[in-house]
Amino acid sequence: MASIKVHLEKCTGCTLCVKACAFGAIHMADRKAVIDMAKCTLCGACVAACKFSAIELEKAAGPKKDLTPYKDVWVFCEQKKGVIQSISYELLGEGRKLADKLGVKLCAVLLGHNMKEAAAKLGERGADKVYLADHPALKAYQDDPYTAVLVNLVEEYKPEAILCGATVIGRSLISRVAIKTNAGLTADCTGLDVDVKERLLLQTRPAFGGNIMATIIAPNHRPQMATVRHKVMKEAELQPGRLAEVVTKSYPEETYASRTRLLDMVEELSATMNISEADIIVAGGRGMGSKENFAQLEELAKVLGGAVGASRSAVDADWIPYSHQVGQTGKTVVPKLYIACGISGQIQHLIGMQSSKTIVAVNKDPDAPIFKVATYGIVGDVNEIVPALIKEFKRALNK
Ligand SMILES: Cc1cc2nc3c(=O)[nH]c(=O)nc-3n(C[C@H](O)[C@H](O)[C@H](O)COP(=O)(O)OP(=O)(O)OC[C@H]3O[C@@H](n4cnc5c(N)ncnc54)[C@H](O)[C@@H]3O)c2cc1C
Repeated sequence: MASIKVHLEKCTGCTLCVKACAFGAIHMADRKAVIDMAKCTLCGACVAACKFSAIELEKAAGPKKDLTPYKDVWVFCEQKKGVIQSISYELLGEGRKLADKLGVKLCAVLLGHNMKEAAAKLGERGADKVYLADHPALKAYQDDPYTAVLVNLVEEYKPEAILCGATVIGRSLISRVAIKTNAGLTADCTGLDVDVKERLLLQTRPAFGGNIMATIIAPNHRPQMATVRHKVMKEAELQPGRLAEVVTKSYPEETYASRTRLLDMVEELSATMNISEADIIVAGGRGMGSKENFAQLEELAKVLGGAVGASRSAVDADWIPYSHQVGQTGKTVVPKLYIACGISGQIQHLIGMQSSKTIVAVNKDPDAPIFKVATYGIVGDVNEIVPALIKEFKRALNK
């Protein structure tokens, strides 16, 4: 276990450490630094800031991992009902760039059942090699067998980096694999690059509620693992006829054992389309006022052939299911048109939609932050503007 202590005889009470601590874990008592261990994350920022070497961080020295055998960039390719999900192509596009910079192979990892043909096709999306585990127990995602197989693959082939979608499946899987392989993991990256000399994956993601962008490295651990949100990276272009070497792996039956059993998969029924795929999103927030008012957005979305999105407040109010939430803890969307109705535009919402091509904001408060990112702003009451938009679009689109 690591520990931190203040050498009181060296502490001058200068407060540099208090300012350096992003977690508010240090205060002064009798002009000496006091660390609140309930808040301290042992990040070491105070140690670096102290000019008097008054703070000491002792990290437990475990056996150092030999990083030299680790090579190649891997992409975990997600499949649902045998169909490769588009996030996999986005990661292959990004993975290709990283592998080329590092001068290593780009490898896809595919787990499923009867997926041989799909595995071979991953070459057309830039993979040089595909590790395929094909077994009935891997047909649909299950935590235990997927984790066991991926851990086996990592231990045998030792990739230097693994990219995975920040999806429900990806988040569940990769955190388990990171723990079991003692790897570094950065969640929800929005940018990736490599330091070729140090062979480090530079993982950029929003931190502190999206107010800063942090670039995170894992210098002492391999593989370096990152999850990336859907629609943040561009899909790898299709290169028809490009071939990949497929390495098919099978494991003893106990590897596929699971403590859970998949009974059924139930699709959420929605009158409009999935927000991740939509070109037009009509989103609503607390300003819609009620569940009944919120339902008007369905009508506007239908007229425009789009999907309905929501702020977290609207989801928390139970006006719409969580799968429609846009933002830091929801989905990232990049539609051609995003119409935000009664949404204030807090940073946690903006993170999920600010790359939309055209943003139209409707808000009664002219100073609402959403107007700072909006292409067009309508200052007014959603109860008047939304019905007017429905009427006008119906007329213009002959609906
Ligand atoms: C860790 C964390 C993660 C989070 N993740 C997310 C996330 O993923 N997505 C997300 O959205 N939020 C997220 N939040 C919450 C976020 O901080 C905001 O609280 C939330 O986005 C606010 O939702 P809102 O804009 O609907 O509500 P409010 O901020 O209450 O804004 C309502 C707006 O409606 C306007 N309004 C009111 N009445 C009318 C009317 N009649 N006509 C027109 N305008 C009207 C008001 O002027 C106001 O601007 C997160 C917060 C935290 C701390």
